[in-house]
Amino acid sequence: MSSKLVLGKIAFVTGAGSGIGRAVCQTLAREGACIIATDRNPEAVRETVGLLTRDAGQSHIALTMDVTSANSVNTSLQSAIEHFSRPPSIVVNNAGITKDNFILKTDERSFQDVIDVNLKGTFLVLQATAKAMSEAGITDGSIINVASIVGKWGNIGQANYSASKAGVEALTKTAAKEFGKLGIRCNAVLPGFIATPMTDTVPENVKAMFLSRVAAGRLGRPEEVAEVITFLASDRSSYVNGASVEVTGG
Ligand code: NAP
Repeated sequence: MSSKLVLGKIAFVTGAGSGIGRAVCQTLAREGACIIATDRNPEAVRETVGLLTRDAGQSHIALTMDVTSANSVNTSLQSAIEHFSRPPSIVVNNAGITKDNFILKTDERSFQDVIDVNLKGTFLVLQATAKAMSEAGITDGSIINVASIVGKWGNIGQANYSASKAGVEALTKTAAKEFGKLGIRCNAVLPGFIATPMTDTVPENVKAMFLSRVAAGRLGRPEEVAEVITFLASDRSSYVNGASVEVTGG
């Protein structure tokens, strides 16, 4: 077995222009994968690709893609398949948004937007990539969905977000059952509070309250989530399927 965890594999990452998605691209590239970095923000995703390790035989591409649009997902996947002459065997559904407010103040649009990106977006990418993998006869597929610990706990001000992430966990377990026999695994990671642009805007008093409940006594770093995702992407986790792995500092 190579010392690099995902040497020669092709990885499709959503929300790759920032935070955890960018760190996932960097960690998978360090471990030998070719990266298809996708994000709705074209400059950000190009910047991510500029940061990636390139060993001999390793290449990466940046694609502008909106996970809420089946058309955008299918177009990006097709151009990635044309570029690499085969579909990705690793897929990381990481794109996500928050639109926080108390339930009594949440409007229909804010609820729908968060469900559309976090849950429907994960479904669209998972469905399109699993279909491509199965048609290409790939039997070492690994799909990792980024959910959240608040999908288990709930969180004040995050009804839309926590419901979307609970949905991602259920979708993951169902995909694991449906795709298991095809040789495609599907797992979820459940990050706690990770320092990224998404959490930069959280008020200090809310951060302090959350931190008081974290055994590690600090926020997580995007790389700490990316390392777990890379393990789940690799053949080292070949019998892990349908799992929800918490990355919360305890
Ligand atoms: P982030 O820094 O805001 O990165 C998310 C990326 O996804 C951004 O580049 C964003 O682009 C992109 N994105 C948003 N909507 C998209 C769409 N419709 N299509 C394609 N790309 C889209 O957030 P992060 O903290 O790294 O979060 C990554 C994932 O981890 C999310 O699923 C999040 O829910 C999850 N998570 C984060 C934490 C945490 O504490 N940070 C905890 C638990 C789970 P824009 O910049 O244009 O919006």
